[in-house]
Amino acid sequence: MTRCELCGSSRISQSLSVCLECLRERPESLEIVRRRREKWRTSIGLPSHLPRGGMLKCPLCVNGCELNEGERGYCGTVINRNGLRPLTGSWNLATGLYYLDPLPTNCVATPVCPAATCRGYPEVTDTCGLEIGRYNLAVFYGSCNLDCFFCQNAEHRRMAAMGRPLMSLNSLLREALRDDVTCICAFGGGPAHGRPSSSRSTGRSGIRRLGSRDCAGRLMDFKIRGYS
Ligand code: SF4
Ligand code: SF4
Ligand SMILES: [Zn+2]
Repeated sequence: MTRCELCGSSRISQSLSVCLECLRERPESLEIVRRRREKWRTSIGLPSHLPRGGMLKCPLCVNGCELNEGERGYCGTVINRNGLRPLTGSWNLATGLYYLDPLPTNCVATPVCPAATCRGYPEVTDTCGLEIGRYNLAVFYGSCNLDCFFCQNAEHRRMAAMGRPLMSLNSLLREALRDDVTCICAFGGGPAHGRPSSSRSTGRSGIRRLGSRDCAGRLMDFKIRGYS
């Protein structure tokens, strides 16, 4: 049985290795958790901590990773390879996958969404009520710039580490432009590392009614600067 490294209590989560009481009362517990987490990230091939002190600073998210030549960002999908580049080799390729999800989906926004209510009719939907026969384009990004312990979709970390599977901007656009696709939901993972491709795909689609959300509900209306 796994026990708390500090007090020996058995009432712990194995992945934390210290108990709740110690986390609250003993500051040294945070260091134990941090080291354990770094070890795990290293074991799957992701940077153990936020890169600092490198020559180039990534502007894609709040982490602002500072990368030396050959170093990967915390998300694992951006690399300094003679300039900041996606690990996939092209901004037209992102790590992740997509699928069509029939509406209404299990999205948390369903009670207020034009795809399931009369809200937004007729401005952003031509249906008052359920958009039966229409689809959400679900885009699962295989990476995240955060590292929540109990992530709802933890497999994105291994996808980021491996750089697989790949989805292309062109195929994503093809699906997004289907008449029966009325919204895009970006999740995973988060789309920070895929901003160039996600913003291009939603922007180029030219479909005003498209919305895009990730698991934290952050809008993906990005302006990309400084990328080759
Ligand atoms: S997108 Fe990735 S490399 Fe860039 S700052 Fe965020 S975590 Fe770092
Ligand atoms: S996908 Fe969401 S829950 Fe998972 S690590 Fe990223 S921000 Fe946290
Ligand atoms: Zn304890």
